[in-house]
Amino acid sequence: MDINDIVRQCRTDSAIYFPSTSDDIGHMTLALCGETGELANVIKKIHRGSLSIEDEDVVASIAGELADILIYLANMIGLFGFDASELYKLKRQFNNERFLDAGSNHQPDLDAAVQSDEPPAFGPTSFIPQRDV
Ligand SMILES: [Mg+2]
Repeated sequence: MDINDIVRQCRTDSAIYFPSTSDDIGHMTLALCGETGELANVIKKIHRGSLSIEDEDVVASIAGELADILIYLANMIGLFGFDASELYKLKRQFNNERFLDAGSNHQPDLDAAVQSDEPPAFGPTSFIPQRDV
């Protein structure tokens, strides 16, 4: 299973598990930030000494939060219609030129990672919360 297979599977799972929010980029952004915060909280507790990295439950917790982050990140990449593998390769090339070739101002052409000329699957209304008043 390559990274684009993971993106497709995450999009499919999201549509099945949470059909009302699976195409909502605002929700996915908040969810990604939420999971990142959960990981940061575990790391914070290790940093201050109330959890130990020697504890296998703590390591399992970190693994679980990283998996949650991966899932929401994959969903966002899928929502935007990016080719995840190409996106990574282009950004890595940019970083190599930036950090290994001092003085380079080359900017990556990430357009090559866009898989479709169609706009992303979500519309601008997905940013607006739906509320009954
Ligand atoms: Mg989590």
